[in-house]
Amino acid sequence: MDESSESLYRELFVEHPAVKLLVCPDTLAIVDANHAAAEFYGYSRDALVDSNFTRISSRPADEIIADIKVALRGERRHFHFRHRLASGIVKDIDLQCGPMHFRGRLLLHMLVHDVTEQQRNYEQLLSYREIYERLPVAFYRATPGPTGRFLEFNQAFMRMLEAESREALLDLDVSSIYVDPSHRSQFSEALLCRDKLFRHELHLRTIKGKAIWVADTAFRHVNEGGQEVFDGVMEDITDRKRLEQELERRATRDELTGLYNRGHASTQLDHEIQRIERYDGELGAVMFDLDEFKNINDTFGHPTGDNVLRQIGELIRSAIREVDLPARWGGEEFLILMPSTNERGAAQMAEKLRVMVSNMRFAAVGRVTLSAGSADYRRGEGEEAFLRRLDRALYAAKGGGRDRVVEAR
Ligand code: GH3
Ligand code: MG
Ligand code: MG
Repeated sequence: MDESSESLYRELFVEHPAVKLLVCPDTLAIVDANHAAAEFYGYSRDALVDSNFTRISSRPADEIIADIKVALRGERRHFHFRHRLASGIVKDIDLQCGPMHFRGRLLLHMLVHDVTEQQRNYEQLLSYREIYERLPVAFYRATPGPTGRFLEFNQAFMRMLEAESREALLDLDVSSIYVDPSHRSQFSEALLCRDKLFRHELHLRTIKGKAIWVADTAFRHVNEGGQEVFDGVMEDITDRKRLEQELERRATRDELTGLYNRGHASTQLDHEIQRIERYDGELGAVMFDLDEFKNINDTFGHPTGDNVLRQIGELIRSAIREVDLPARWGGEEFLILMPSTNERGAAQMAEKLRVMVSNMRFAAVGRVTLSAGSADYRRGEGEEAFLRRLDRALYAAKGGGRDRVVEAR
């Protein structure tokens, strides 16, 4: 080697800061190792040069030779090894190598990269990923806005939304899984303004169309790519929600007719009266009782009487407005509260119901009639006095011969 190539060799190999080895492809003898290699492996240069590549590599010689043949043919340049240092510590190595003619011999030039830390990070990432995928908790990442997109989610999330493929969710407008799509923009606005939401309840529809309730705990942040995203965990609370709704239904409804029960009607009446006392407004009411109902039971039996009550319930529902509150006040006694309705409106409703019922023909029983009292609330009178006036009007209708309406005085 002439002087200039010797100096080039020193510069590119011996003094080069990267860890470099020259290895004989037949014997695996280390022909030369640079200063950086000596420092990395913890041997002197001389000790390294005297030894065999198998001393530092934890793989069997035949495997190494097979790899080396591949490297010599130039088919692959990167290999993964584990190398043992003089201290006994084992490092993950990315070996970049290729053939090199040196002093008349064909050798392998090896560039050694310590990738132990990357490898460990990668393995850690894999294990986080595995936890994320396997945990029976539904995770997602989505873009904000009224029509967000899902960017990322785990298997539990796919199961919850009954998605058979990742694409089924990736292609989706997030608002389309809301039972009411406008709730998506409310959710998005709330999260943008508060940064996090804790167990926010959402009514969703799965890909297969099943309605579910979820509690969504989500926070907003900027991801690695500088994009603003929502990260969240969803818990399926459908069963709990159904139970709550059922309990609420039982607490407020009458089993037989499905109308509100006396307790609920009484609470609502109290609210309405408070509203009128504070802000003014009107509240009309009709109280009616079926005529001679005892006879119906005695003649046709209690179950037939029950059927009549059920049908009366349906008839009331068909006759009133959305804002009116129909209740079964007692056995065969009904109360209808009508917000924003005056005395005349209440009397008209009572008469309408009276006519509807008297025109109806009930199976087995035939004709049924009712007697009703109607009234509107007078500011300052209070709940008790109001109900008493209604009751008296009803009593007067009975006394007047039944099948009639009396307006309360
Ligand atoms: P009036 O015209 O004076 O109202 O006569 P009435 O027979 O309807 O009045 P009364 O208060 O004497 O009787 C009410 C009847 O309603 C007695 C009771 O057996 C019946 N009743 C109350 N609750 C129910 C129920 O849930 N199902 C049935 N089938 N009957 C009921
Ligand atoms: Mg009666
Ligand atoms: Mg009665």
